[in-house]
Amino acid sequence: MITCSKCVLPGSFPGIQFDEEGVCNYCRNIPIPDSSEKQAHREKFETLLRSKRSMGSFDVLLAYSGGKDSTYTLYLLAKQYNLKVLALVFDNGFISGQAMVNIRHMTDSLGAACMVFRPPFDLMKKVFGLAAGHDIYSPKTLDRASSICTTCIGMVKAMVLKTALSYHIPLVAFGWSPGQAPISSAIMQTNPRLQKFSHRSVRDPLIGLAGDELKPYFLSDADLAVDQSHWPVNIHPLAFMDYDEDAIVEKISSLGWVKPKDTDPNSTNCLLNALANHLHRKRFNFHPYAWEIAGIVRSGSMDRSQGIVKVNEEEDRDMVNYAAGLLGIDPGF
Ligand SMILES: [Zn+2]
Repeated sequence: MITCSKCVLPGSFPGIQFDEEGVCNYCRNIPIPDSSEKQAHREKFETLLRSKRSMGSFDVLLAYSGGKDSTYTLYLLAKQYNLKVLALVFDNGFISGQAMVNIRHMTDSLGAACMVFRPPFDLMKKVFGLAAGHDIYSPKTLDRASSICTTCIGMVKAMVLKTALSYHIPLVAFGWSPGQAPISSAIMQTNPRLQKFSHRSVRDPLIGLAGDELKPYFLSDADLAVDQSHWPVNIHPLAFMDYDEDAIVEKISSLGWVKPKDTDPNSTNCLLNALANHLHRKRFNFHPYAWEIAGIVRSGSMDRSQGIVKVNEEEDRDMVNYAAGLLGIDPGF
């Protein structure tokens, strides 16, 4: 199959077109932030911190998975910017044992409070099983993540916002890599109107299928009625910081983070990821991380050859079977 000569997107990627040089339309059309744009965002972020710091609660609520990107984001927020961090861990039932050790160690050593939120496993099993076997989301949503990841991240985002609203925390942070989220959305004021709109993409279809028992995991009408002045600013600092995967792993390893050995190559925390990737590739014929990896390659933070290996590597059968067994579904090899 043809692959873009600049990034890693394959000919099977939705909406892709190649020019005579074999370069895809996404490489042609998506601007890559230069150092001055990153600097401008860093300054905007620092200005924001001056007005949001030390308001009596935690300064920032971080969606923390224990993986490399959110661990590095934790380090930046707690040490480089000296913020009071509350790390919220969403335990989806598939967090690697080593990732849990990392979560405890890194939050302790970086001086962050940690809250682990774990829905009952039977509920997660039901939700992931539905996400694996049904067309819940719009095809556009699934260009950038698997149905299972979209489900989990949707719940994480909702719990992060609910918690920030109830604790009056002025900032919420995510460790999105520069390939996962563009710099244009790196500093965004949240608000009820946008939130209601975003409910249509994940919350509403998911509750429609799984039922009302999922409602407590998403924003309620009472949450949406919270005064605008209490809604946090959403940040993802890796978009405007220097991002180099090897350098990030080296930095956090020096602080005691240990790379899990039981996860697939595209995750440093989740044991469900291999199954999620496998099902997505079987259905759509492209890797659910292709979009993210293409973005990182385009930004110059990863060699194209390294990215090509990542998007073409077959999932480990044992990992796929392990997760499928826990969910009680057929991986369909
Ligand atoms: Zn491309």
